[in-house]
Amino acid sequence: MSYNPPAARRLRVYAFDPQAALNLGSAKFGHATVSLPWNDPADGEVLPGPINDYVEIIDADPSSQAFYEPVNLNAIELLAQDGLTPSEGDPRFHQQMVFAVAMKTIKLFERALGRKIIWAPNWDDQNKTYRPTHKLRIYPHALREANAYYSRARKALLFGYFKAVDRRAGADWIFTALSHDIIVHETTHAILDGLHPRYAEATHVDSLAFHEAFADIAALLSHFQLYEAVYEHIDRQGGSLDQTGLLTGLASQFSSGTTGHPSLREFIEKEPDASLLATTTESHSRGAILVAAVFDAFLSIYKARTADLLRLAAVQPGSGRSLHPDLTARLTSEATKCADHVLRMCIRALDYLPPMDVRFGEFLRAVITADTDLIPDDRLNYRLAFVEAFRRRGIFADQCLSMSPDSLLWERPLVEDPKAADFLDTSDVLLSELNLTPEFSRERIWQTAESNRKKVWYWLVQPEMKVAEDCKISQADFNDMLAKARLAFSDVASAPGPDSPWERFVTDYTFMLINLGISVDHLNDLTKAIRAGETHFDRWETFFNAIMALPTINDGKKTDEAWATALGIRFQQGRRPLHTINGRDGIPSVEVHSVRTTRRAGPDGQDIRQLVIEVAQKRRGYFDEAVQHAEDTGKGTGQRADFWFRGGATLVIDLRDCKPRYIIRKRIDDGTRLAEQRAFLTSPPDLGFTYDPGQMREPFAMLHRS
Ligand SMILES: [Zn+2]
Repeated sequence: MSYNPPAARRLRVYAFDPQAALNLGSAKFGHATVSLPWNDPADGEVLPGPINDYVEIIDADPSSQAFYEPVNLNAIELLAQDGLTPSEGDPRFHQQMVFAVAMKTIKLFERALGRKIIWAPNWDDQNKTYRPTHKLRIYPHALREANAYYSRARKALLFGYFKAVDRRAGADWIFTALSHDIIVHETTHAILDGLHPRYAEATHVDSLAFHEAFADIAALLSHFQLYEAVYEHIDRQGGSLDQTGLLTGLASQFSSGTTGHPSLREFIEKEPDASLLATTTESHSRGAILVAAVFDAFLSIYKARTADLLRLAAVQPGSGRSLHPDLTARLTSEATKCADHVLRMCIRALDYLPPMDVRFGEFLRAVITADTDLIPDDRLNYRLAFVEAFRRRGIFADQCLSMSPDSLLWERPLVEDPKAADFLDTSDVLLSELNLTPEFSRERIWQTAESNRKKVWYWLVQPEMKVAEDCKISQADFNDMLAKARLAFSDVASAPGPDSPWERFVTDYTFMLINLGISVDHLNDLTKAIRAGETHFDRWETFFNAIMALPTINDGKKTDEAWATALGIRFQQGRRPLHTINGRDGIPSVEVHSVRTTRRAGPDGQDIRQLVIEVAQKRRGYFDEAVQHAEDTGKGTGQRADFWFRGGATLVIDLRDCKPRYIIRKRIDDGTRLAEQRAFLTSPPDLGFTYDPGQMREPFAMLHRS
């Protein structure tokens, strides 16, 4: 006899942490149950560990040299009772909890982003390509210290445990792996690093503060989705129902009850002070201002959504009368819905941010633009709530004339500029080459994204080429051949030889290559020269230079220059060269960080499909301005850079009409931004940051150590 599979796998966790579960005030809602999708066919089985397609819990404790038996969530005893009962003493419960909360966070991001989460890959310098990180490793007992962090080098979450200083906390040992807050926070760091690997670089007072703030916004708003906890709180507050105090009290209760990063919530209950941002430079405090701004937006949206309920119930603030349980239930469900909505607004903004050097004001613009794209009519004034909350905390968008939601939208210079129409059309060529078929398994998503990424890269760095009029080959056939060449050469895995994709390409296209003017002898030499190339990059360059050198081919410089300007980078040095741009033989190198497709559904049936491409370039930066000038102009000694200065853009293409919609750009030749980064990196250490390249390998470990 067979049965239908269950809808969900339910797992019990601490709603906050073990201390809060013991506390009489919060004991009622100390436990929560997380529902995860039941064996999604694309996600694979949940194996003992737990291990699934996303994460791998490894419970080795180096300081006690212990290796704890991995929990088997498929054991019949656990399936029958929503997993193990919350317990501080059972390491298997610790494994269950980190797994459940990390997976819940992953699924939340996936729902908002409209695609699957992919972890930050590792750069394989030998083959000049990225290697995927299949599973994020999670070590529930990695450190014996009051710290927990996302390790960029190991692509792992490391949780520490330590002896309680204050025994009144009720425990001898405090386990960070049992704090809901900390697990969501660290998982968010890992997800954000997969999306925007350059955000972990300290380039501005906002950069690391943004990472911290975002991780904490996710942790804080996830709490407001725990129905029982919010219900209990509203019920208790009901008698003196004052809308402002209704949820803020809960926020501080959340942070005081945990071993998390309370400093990130320090401004939540304080009256906004717009001048504070200018003087706050320490990452956590500065991040706390952003957390408070998002929280204020959440509160005002909640207030707007519940005003009618309170009027209907005719509740007098301060009347001392307790609320009807039905009203408490309605208020609670509004609070959980609002928290979910605000968090999704924040997550969706991640695709509308520049690839590097992010600023708080840009985050606001990204939130507004992403939300406008999905929900054009802001009937409930959610966007206004964000703008108002950010303004009151002193967070402004630098290049905007006003702080109205309309003027905060990212510009669409390309669509409005008729001169640009010419080069925009070239993106059709690109889109026709990419594989945009939706994939379900993360392995396939990664492979498709990688092959798309390489195609975009080849397409970008290859100068535009025009076939001469008297040539026997048409422009269309030539473009088609180049597309095939890009496909063949970008196959990194194949070993050189007659069976490799690119040699087969040369064989298949021999006739056309000869028609373009390559002699048979030349073709043989060319094949040998390509074979000698060590990387796919070398091989492509050799082939490409040979084509460029043909008298039948002219380069179409204009289009390339238009793209370079639009993306804020350089393909060629041009008339005012910047010798500090990283490159080879005087030609600037271009990186394509990622190419990803998203699909989002709006509340009124909107169906947004986008392609997001991140392009970047790096330039040597020097602490000494005179040295910078000398190196920029090629008069320096080529000395080692003090830091990397990056430029580039996020290109958002609307797949419904295949037109670029936004280009969110940070110019590589932006002198002001370079000066800002230099000033930040050389600022005195008491400003909360000391530049140490060694530290930058694990920035989050340093940020979290208390
Ligand atoms: Zn953090």
